[in-house]
Amino acid sequence: MNPVLSCESRGLHPCPACERGDESLCEQKTKGSIESGLLIGACKDTGGSWSPYFVAHKSQILPLPDAVDDLNGVLVEPFSCALHAVLRNPPKGGDRVLIIGAGVIGLSVVAAIKALDYSCHVTILVKHSFQGEMARAFGADEVIYLDGSYVENTANALGAETLKPLLGPEIVQGGANIVYECVGKKKSITDALRFTESGGKVVLLGLASIMKQVDWTTVWLNELTIKGCFAYSTNEFEGQRMNTLQIAIELMKRGKVDLSPLITHQYPLHDYKVAFNTITKRKQENALKVVFNHDQTTVGG
Ligand SMILES: [Zn+2]
Repeated sequence: MNPVLSCESRGLHPCPACERGDESLCEQKTKGSIESGLLIGACKDTGGSWSPYFVAHKSQILPLPDAVDDLNGVLVEPFSCALHAVLRNPPKGGDRVLIIGAGVIGLSVVAAIKALDYSCHVTILVKHSFQGEMARAFGADEVIYLDGSYVENTANALGAETLKPLLGPEIVQGGANIVYECVGKKKSITDALRFTESGGKVVLLGLASIMKQVDWTTVWLNELTIKGCFAYSTNEFEGQRMNTLQIAIELMKRGKVDLSPLITHQYPLHDYKVAFNTITKRKQENALKVVFNHDQTTVGG
């Protein structure tokens, strides 16, 4: 199910954004016969997926082929966020790519780059060892842990050097051609800006908001391009314009990607307290994606 509540699902004449295939940027997300909300799950009239049933417009339903199992099916949506970011901001052959963050989105960016056969060098910055192992399994070339020497290690992995200015933290000379920022916090944004080479691009997938004390010097000094990215819509794939979720399903069907290892925990709905506890203790539980399984009667792991 494509959860975006854009003009079509709201029963409205298409706005300029929807007309050009940018449904996630729809200008009428508060209009139409259903309540305001960007997505199913954030609209009081549709319900959400934390229930056995919810309401969707027929245009939002996508058939899942038999070749794609339910675990991959449940990951079509987050994988599409990564695919959209990569398809709209593709690395060039031989590029040095840095991914910051190894939650479901960061790992999906690794998987998207590999599934689309881009021949670039992928470095990923991760917090926990289970995330690092998963990143490697998905095809990351270098995994850097956020320890005391990560700035040096990341610079080395990117063929860059670190410099110590008179004031402030270490800066980086050189860096990645393109950085996919998948955390959205002050530290990760700061890292994205300093690990990008002159003239390079930072793609924001993390949900960054109001942020104090982010040093923007490198943005003008190194003439960086900062590109935002939200959800999924219509993308170019093999010369065709397709819905991002359809592209995700197609890549899964062809066996170009298997995201099922990202689902680390499954719970029946009535165990929602345990499920939320697992998600808030991500590190102790080695949790990535925690899902509800309505067929299940006992706690799985
Ligand atoms: Zn629209």
